[in-house]
Amino acid sequence: MGDKHGFRFHGGRPSVNFTATVGERWRDGGFERLPDPAALGRWFTEAGLTSADPRCTEADLTAARELREAVYRLMVGQVSEEDLATVNRWAGQPPPVTALVDTAEGLRSRVVSATVPSLLGSIAADAVAVLGGEDAGRLRECANPECSLLFLDTSRAGVRRWCSMSSCGSREKMQRYRAADR
Ligand SMILES: [Zn+2]
Repeated sequence: MGDKHGFRFHGGRPSVNFTATVGERWRDGGFERLPDPAALGRWFTEAGLTSADPRCTEADLTAARELREAVYRLMVGQVSEEDLATVNRWAGQPPPVTALVDTAEGLRSRVVSATVPSLLGSIAADAVAVLGGEDAGRLRECANPECSLLFLDTSRAGVRRWCSMSSCGSREKMQRYRAADR
């Protein structure tokens, strides 16, 4: 499975991927992929939300984890006024500043300035779009019981079972072959 503490980006949307920064939630609280503020900065850049590390503080990390857990609970159907308020408060933040840039491939949009509140705001706004739209019915938990990360099933038939075919999907296939051998 590679580096267990590496970030997972199989969720299909930034807000879903953000919930994957806690791994193995089934295992008594799971493990934290954002152990310090620097890890949060790395996540923002690896997620492609900004190209420059926004230099997160401890307070940013605390706020990020609060938002993440609120988004997670709403995505698994545990709705509360408190979590709605958390998500909606962040969703009201001004978004990162983008600019149009003329590149060799044509015009492209680039994030030119992204503060931590603006980045958390864009995650919250994405969660609002996912949970408040038709995609909400396509949120799934990975069928690999040792993974159980959330992902958005964008397959036309809506029958995808794993966050990633190459990791969780092939793992289950292998187990089925082994079971058939016995
Ligand atoms: Zn999985």
